[in-house]
Amino acid sequence: TQAQLIQSEKMASLGILTAGVAHEINNPLNFIMGGYRGLEIYLNNTELHTDPDLKKLMGSIKIGADRAIKIVKGLNQFSRSKESFDEKCDLHAILENSLTLLTNELKDRVEIERNFNEQPLIILGNIGNLHQVFINIIHNASDAIADTGKIILNTRQEADQVIIECIDNGDGVSEEDLPQLTVPFFTTKEQGKGTGLGLSISYGFIQKHNGTLAFESKLHEGTKVTITLPYPSK
Ligand code: ADP
Repeated sequence: TQAQLIQSEKMASLGILTAGVAHEINNPLNFIMGGYRGLEIYLNNTELHTDPDLKKLMGSIKIGADRAIKIVKGLNQFSRSKESFDEKCDLHAILENSLTLLTNELKDRVEIERNFNEQPLIILGNIGNLHQVFINIIHNASDAIADTGKIILNTRQEADQVIIECIDNGDGVSEEDLPQLTVPFFTTKEQGKGTGLGLSISYGFIQKHNGTLAFESKLHEGTKVTITLPYPSK
C-alpha cells in the first residue's frame, strides 16, 4: 500500500541519516559524560557533595545524558548495513534465547505459552537482527502487562512462509495509536523507559528478510504481533 511505501522510504533515508547523526552526537556526548564523571569526583572531595540542590542538578544531567546515550545506541542499529543474510537461523532457538535474556522482566509475573511447530523452523537470515526483533516484541508484550498476564508464542509453517505470533493479554493499543507503532520515536512509555525505536527497527529488520510485521490490538484486551518470513529461504 501507499502507507507501506512511504514507511519503507522513510526507513531507508533514516538509515543513511542516522549513521551520521549518531556519530555526530556521540562525540559531544562523550565530552558531557567525561565532564560529568570528573565533576562527580571533584564534588565528592568537597563539602558540597551533600548539598541536596546540587545532587538534584547532577541527577538530571545523568538522566538526560543516559537517555541520549540510549537513543544513539538505537540509532546505531539502523546503520549496520553490511550484514550477512545467509546465516542459518533456527527460529525456535532464537526465540528461546530472547526469552532467556528477558527472564528478569518476565519472572513469575508473565506466563509464557509456547505452541511451536513440531519440526525446527530454520531459515537463512541474520541471527542478530531476528534476535533483536524477538526481544523487542516480547519485551513490549511484557511491558503491556501491568500486573500478571500471559504471552503466547506460536510458530508454524504455512505454504511458502513461516509465521511467528506473539499474543499478549496486556493493555492493548487504541485504534488511533495502532498505525503509529512502527513510526520512529513513537512511544507511550514513560520518560526514560522507551525510545520508540524498537518497532521501527524491527520493521526494518523484517523487511530486509523479505518478511512482514503486522499488529492487531484491542484496548484493555491485548495485542497480537504477526511476523511472516519466506520459507524456505532462497
Ligand atoms: P518503545 O518500546 O521504546 O516505546 P517500540 O517501537 O518498541 O518503542 O513501541 C512503540 C509503542 O508501541 C510502545 O510505546 C507501545 O505504546 C506500543 N506497543 C508496542 N507493542 C505493544 C504491545 N504488545 N501492547 C501494547 N502496546 C504496544
